[in-house]
Amino acid sequence: MKTKTIIVIGGGPGGMMSAYAAAKNGHHVVLLEKNVRLGKKMLITGKGRCNVTNDAPVNELVKAMVGNGKFLYGAFSDFSSEDTMAWFTDGGVPLKVERGQRVFPVSDISGDIVGCMERQLAKVGVEVKSQTTAGKIIVQDGVAVGVKADGRIINADAVVIATGGVSYPRTGSTGDGYKLAQNVGHTIKPVFPALVPLVVKESYVGDLEGLSLRNAEISIKSNGKVLGKDFGEMVFTDVGMSGPVILTLSRICAKHFSEQPHEPLDLTINLKPALTEEQLDLRLQRDYDSYPKRNYSTLLQELLPKKMIPVFVQLSQIDPWKQGNQINKQDRKVILKLLRALPFTVVKCRPIEEAIITAGGVNVKEIDPKTMGSKKIHGLFFAGEVIDIDGVTGGFNIQAALSTGYRSGLGAANYLTEMDE
Ligand code: FAD
Repeated sequence: MKTKTIIVIGGGPGGMMSAYAAAKNGHHVVLLEKNVRLGKKMLITGKGRCNVTNDAPVNELVKAMVGNGKFLYGAFSDFSSEDTMAWFTDGGVPLKVERGQRVFPVSDISGDIVGCMERQLAKVGVEVKSQTTAGKIIVQDGVAVGVKADGRIINADAVVIATGGVSYPRTGSTGDGYKLAQNVGHTIKPVFPALVPLVVKESYVGDLEGLSLRNAEISIKSNGKVLGKDFGEMVFTDVGMSGPVILTLSRICAKHFSEQPHEPLDLTINLKPALTEEQLDLRLQRDYDSYPKRNYSTLLQELLPKKMIPVFVQLSQIDPWKQGNQINKQDRKVILKLLRALPFTVVKCRPIEEAIITAGGVNVKEIDPKTMGSKKIHGLFFAGEVIDIDGVTGGFNIQAALSTGYRSGLGAANYLTEMDE
């Protein structure tokens, strides 16, 4: 007979793994989820394929978590990406590793990952209460003793908050955990969007909408000072840019705009990052010598995607009909400069509701990294994105939710065992 109860609030990857780990250790676990189904956000991850982890060693997982990675070292060591892969494979979901060590289900169906978690929860006897919204943590003499949900009090011996962040609120992640934690004395680090598309001033970006660049080097500057530089894939949107390299750099932009909302940032795209300036100049000269009668805009087809040519011609202010043998050194200088630093002005990030991740959250200084337990309230634990942690794209954020989920479930289970002794 299980006499002690652990309530886990939030049925995302963090809460589900927390509930699993706690129940596996012999406790009665009640998982509260405000939606009808568990894992609503998880279903839309990885464009519906769920990039569930990254096949990387612990130190790389830590590095990829740009927001408080070191805090996660122990959690990643306890439940690593190898453990994640074994857990899902043993649970009946074969996985595959793609470019950048990103791990997906072989089926490419995120529902298989969520389904596996639901099955494992049922196996260890977790009681799922869906369509139940937690509104308050009940604390007596500094100890968490229950949760008020939809006006009803549910008694508990330990509580885990795993309510996620505030991005994509229609998935249920509406920032409730911040209020729950704040009401019992925790401080919340200001939240801002991470992994979010950028908005630029230049209207010609709309002409590039849908164009993706596989090997772009992006630099972000503020008043001439480089704030960030990265290389990878990007895509133009109707009002700006998105795609992995932009999302990674967006954290720097979001932080900048949270402090200086009216100070635009300079963004440049190096379209030929594999070539030095000299190599690129030689390449241009060779093209123009080889095709002296071809006009400038036709010659650009050797270098650029078709969709970009009108924009490039306009920016260079070189006559599109100018022939190869008429393009002089000064023209080449302009072309070179644009190829190596196509300029844009970032005016803002898309809103936090459109961010993949919420940066900020429950202050990590108030959480014991060994147990994910609150340093302020006995019997209170945290898991997942509600904590002030965030990482780059590639499966790291779900891994962080699973690792902190696992640790918090064990932490809560051990706390109850110690109470018994
Ligand atoms: P969530 O998944 O947000 O779950 C929190 C749960 O708590 C929700 O189900 C919510 O309904 C519930 N809840 C909230 N408040 C209450 C309350 N008061 N009472 C009861 N229940 C409550 N990460 C990756 O690693 N790989 C990817 O491929 C990837 N793709 C993404 C794509 C998109 C479009 C988005 C938005 C995010 C993506 N992420 C990805 C990020 C990843 O989804 C999150 O990091 C992860 O889901 C966080 O898990 P969590 O358990 O902390 O929170």
